[in-house]
Amino acid sequence: MKLQYEHPSLVIFESELFRTTTTLVLGEGYLLLIDPNWLPREIAFIHAYVERVCGNRTCYLLFTHSDYDHIIGYGKFKGFETIASQNFVSNPKQVDILAEIATFDDQYYIQRDYAIEYPSIDHRIESSSSMKLGIETYEFYQAVGHNSDGLISYNSDRGVLIVGDYLSNIEFPYIYESVAKYKETLEQLERIIENNSVQILITGHGDATHDKNEMLQRLQDSHTYIEQLEASVRNQQAFNEAILWQRYQFPKIMQAFHQANMELLKKELALS
Ligand SMILES: [Zn+2]
Repeated sequence: MKLQYEHPSLVIFESELFRTTTTLVLGEGYLLLIDPNWLPREIAFIHAYVERVCGNRTCYLLFTHSDYDHIIGYGKFKGFETIASQNFVSNPKQVDILAEIATFDDQYYIQRDYAIEYPSIDHRIESSSSMKLGIETYEFYQAVGHNSDGLISYNSDRGVLIVGDYLSNIEFPYIYESVAKYKETLEQLERIIENNSVQILITGHGDATHDKNEMLQRLQDSHTYIEQLEASVRNQQAFNEAILWQRYQFPKIMQAFHQANMELLKKELALS
């Protein structure tokens, strides 16, 4: 499996599918695994890696949000102390999310050596709060917009910022929940990046970055996309998709996400 980044205290695994990332933070007395995914062999690889390095550490498993690609590996890591947002716990679409996993596995004849279940969460994070893992502090922020139950995690001792499906360098904003809330999350991310010494930003799909200018550029790219989306829907003018497909690489599938963003925004504006 591809290791996008490997350092004694931080590993980023990258799936062949959608360049989805799994993050492993190795701290004194603890390890934190985030969103283990996708394919059985990839999950077995991550599992073996974790087994190799765990020693006496307390093992935590965190979910950035409940999209099925991010919870698909849960059953392989039973016994870990789990962390997610309170919204993740109370998500009313749990049955649908599990059905998406079943459909995916069925479609590709995939067999897994663990049960598919919706994660049971030990540490439920409400609003903005912080938590000690080992001797390190994690600050948590709610991140609604992409979906309804995102959680941003910031290890303030080491400047590691894990954002889930925001600030990707390979995807424009995919907005399933709310454009207005997505913009609030971008503002929250901007405050975190501006007010802290972020050493690395890790996104759910694509490349992590150490470069603050790139972090700010990704914020700008997300804002620009949403501004163009709003201008197009409000003024009923065509969105300049040619520019979008110069910037993003997979137009066949991404077209559907872009269309869905348009539809969601239309509904949201009609309600406001
Ligand atoms: Zn995702």
